[in-house]
Amino acid sequence: MRAIFLDKDGTLVENVPYNVNPALIELTWQAGQGLQLLKQLGYALIVVTNQPGVARGLFTEGALGPVEHRIAERLAQYGVTLDGFYYCPHSPDGVVGRYAIRCTCRKPMPGMLLRAAREHGIELAQSWMIGDILHDVEAGRRAGCRTVLIDNGNETEWKLSSLRAPHFTAPDLHAAASLIAEADAVQHSGAATT
Ligand SMILES: [Mg+2]
Ligand SMILES: [Zn+2]
Repeated sequence: MRAIFLDKDGTLVENVPYNVNPALIELTWQAGQGLQLLKQLGYALIVVTNQPGVARGLFTEGALGPVEHRIAERLAQYGVTLDGFYYCPHSPDGVVGRYAIRCTCRKPMPGMLLRAAREHGIELAQSWMIGDILHDVEAGRRAGCRTVLIDNGNETEWKLSSLRAPHFTAPDLHAAASLIAEADAVQHSGAATT
């Protein structure tokens, strides 16, 4: 199986810092249409999100269930279901003891992608990470995936390196999905002629 790993905040849903109020959760522009296309291409859709608000004592892990539920409701309007939802509750500068650690799942580390790959039988080299900052790109590349940066102004530092260079950039999720469809088509035509 191959997958699209999706950042949540600023990529799948509008960025409201540390928000866990389901009423404030809205899909980003073209997210529903983009995920429809990716599902048609046969990708599993898996959210991978840093939630350091848990470590910082702003909300509990229990608050994330309703968030996931609300996103599922929004996507259901497009006939799209998610195949996985992974979050990292940690932060090295956290204040809640057991979460205040330097972990291997907080992006830009690839732990969530590697775990999802194990649990869902995902072929990482055939998969993609889509996010709105370079930490997402780095997590994707560290996991061996190709990457799309949604260039919507949310990345502000632009600390570039070879691990942080996106394979593609796109203005929204539907544009990202179209680029992935094109890349798939090229790969398939290449396979057919060799
Ligand atoms: Mg983001
Ligand atoms: Zn973590």
